[in-house]
Amino acid sequence: MTVNSLEGRAAFVTGSVQGIGLAVAKSLASAGANVALHGLANPEQAEAAMAEVRAAGAPDVIFLDTDLSKAGAIDGMVKALRDWREIDILVNNAGIQKTTSIADATAEIWESVLAVNLSAPFHIMRHLMPSMAERGFGRVVNIASVHGLVASQNKAPYVSSKFGLVGLSRVAALEYASAGSRSTGGVTVNCICPGWTETAIIEPQIAARAAELGGDRDKGVASLLAEKQPSLRTSDPSEIGELCVWLCNKVAHNVTGTSIPVDGGWTAQ
Ligand code: NAD
Repeated sequence: MTVNSLEGRAAFVTGSVQGIGLAVAKSLASAGANVALHGLANPEQAEAAMAEVRAAGAPDVIFLDTDLSKAGAIDGMVKALRDWREIDILVNNAGIQKTTSIADATAEIWESVLAVNLSAPFHIMRHLMPSMAERGFGRVVNIASVHGLVASQNKAPYVSSKFGLVGLSRVAALEYASAGSRSTGGVTVNCICPGWTETAIIEPQIAARAAELGGDRDKGVASLLAEKQPSLRTSDPSEIGELCVWLCNKVAHNVTGTSIPVDGGWTAQ
């Protein structure tokens, strides 16, 4: 195994049939990892994602379709993963966004966002991390958000879930900091905190802003960027994937408990 290789590693990426999750899965595959894909998808979408990840270089690929809003389903998903391989790399990426004021939010919105964005990562981590510690190597990369570091109006459930995910990651980083060694690679837990990144999750917000600007999508994107993201450009999901691969290498054994913004300066303001 070379320094930058993930050959022989087994990675599980939640929400990886599209968007940031699929890009992360492809980057890990390019580095040689075996990849368990996951998400809400019809058979055609799942097969297409598996084909992309195989083509990127993953020797072995499986797909799991567990609905993470149902906490009771997570035990079965973990068993299916374990029957496949012991997981070395966990990327908690699946997430949902529902914009609403606190006054208009329903209990259903609050509970569904917290279930997918925060409770599911907690349950998956508590199941998978002890075995990482026993083997002296493990990587957890939680895809949080700039909204795990700063707030915006009309996003109370999402912001709460992502601040919670950053807190959860720091606690886990501390609890596992002394597991393993430099030579085994240790067990680390970090968050990546994207700003505006070109995926389906931001389309409703782009459409709403475009509607205020005569229906022009490009103007909608430019307006959202001008409001928060000083670089005035979006990120491509593949850029998050490459950062994830770096965090998963042994060289990053002492990088733990961090929250790394990929946000064009949003949170530097
Ligand atoms: P996306 O909507 O394209 O992908 C979300 C993924 O989550 C999909 O694969 C979907 O199948 C999965 N998912 C959703 N609900 C699920 C459920 N109940 N059970 C199982 N899987 C479920 O969005 P994305 O932009 O790729 O988002 C990935 C992560 O990045 C999310 O956690 C999101 O909050 C975060 N993020 C995105 C941006 C951005 O600008 N795109 C910015 C900051 C953070």
